[in-house]
Amino acid sequence: MLSIKNLHASIDDKEILRGIDLEVKAGEVHAIMGPNGSGKSTLASVLAGREDYEVTQGSIDFLGNDLLDLGAEERAREGLFLAFQYPVEIPGVSSTNFLKTAVNQIREHRGQEPLDAVSFLTLIKEKMKLVEMDQSLLSRSLNEGFSGGEKKRNEIFQMAVLEPKLAILDETDSGLDIDALRIVANGVNQLKNSDNATVVVTHYQRLLDYIVPDFVHVLFNGRIVKSGTKELALELEEKGYDWIKEEVNEAT
Ligand code: ADP
Ligand code: MG
Ligand code: MG
Repeated sequence: MLSIKNLHASIDDKEILRGIDLEVKAGEVHAIMGPNGSGKSTLASVLAGREDYEVTQGSIDFLGNDLLDLGAEERAREGLFLAFQYPVEIPGVSSTNFLKTAVNQIREHRGQEPLDAVSFLTLIKEKMKLVEMDQSLLSRSLNEGFSGGEKKRNEIFQMAVLEPKLAILDETDSGLDIDALRIVANGVNQLKNSDNATVVVTHYQRLLDYIVPDFVHVLFNGRIVKSGTKELALELEEKGYDWIKEEVNEAT
């Protein structure tokens, strides 16, 4: 599904990603961990197609497309979901209209008929149930105050509605409480099937108490320096990241 080869990326001529290799197959959940500043959010941003990052080397194949040739919107249409690509706060636009447009763009791209208002509402209600979302949230304008947990729920709800092939979640917010973590985890776990995949970027092991990843990768200094299964995440929780840094230093 996703094949990243020798990816190098810079910002303001400063190299942040220094040769990333990553293969994600349908049906898999991958966690990307690593100390602060290692390049996790940069990787998510490059996958999202954010323009301030310059890819200087390497390739990203997504479902047979050269991802780097596609703009951010085209990536979404091909079935890539990046939580932060979908603003949770757009003044004056209700989340429903925003989502309806996004869903119908994806459907059009797949050669499917657009959903009419009634079918869309049915879909929305089904997905709200899935993420245990309060229906009153839908009628609120998006710039009204959302708590951290509500924003998370909205994000996962958007993901449930859009049914992406590949979801990339960058859990940057260390301030997220346990409820918000559970919302993310339940969403990921419920939406998981043999046709889709998820990459969860996180600094914190505790998210992985709820999401069971098939693979865990440690990003350090712009490279994936270690990969393993969920046991690696447990080891990181117990021992921190210093031993990884030492291993890397010994090897170089
Ligand atoms: P992580 O998400 O793993 O904490 P980031 O990808 O946010 O790491 O950052 C990796 C490195 O890139 C850090 O050294 C950070 O200071 C630098 N960096 C990130 N964004 C920018 C930016 N917009 N301008 C300059 N440097 C940046
Ligand atoms: Mg950071
Ligand atoms: Mg980050």
